[in-house]
Amino acid sequence: MEVCDGCSDIDGLPVDVQRQENLTLIGVAECNGTLVLEHYRCDKCRAVIARQFTGDSDERVWSVIEASP
Ligand SMILES: [Zn+2]
Repeated sequence: MEVCDGCSDIDGLPVDVQRQENLTLIGVAECNGTLVLEHYRCDKCRAVIARQFTGDSDERVWSVIEASP
């Protein structure tokens, strides 16, 4: 369950922080035409990272949701 430095750095940051480096967009979720969530996979450590655009301010963050074993 190790994530690379880039992933551990971005975990918990607000979604307006841009980080596209080494991340591949693997899926998005929309609700009524509004972007709700993006999922990325890290090219370095293969972790899956979510970027959530809705909810309270403490929910609109980047979060590492699945680290590679
Ligand atoms: Zn990573």
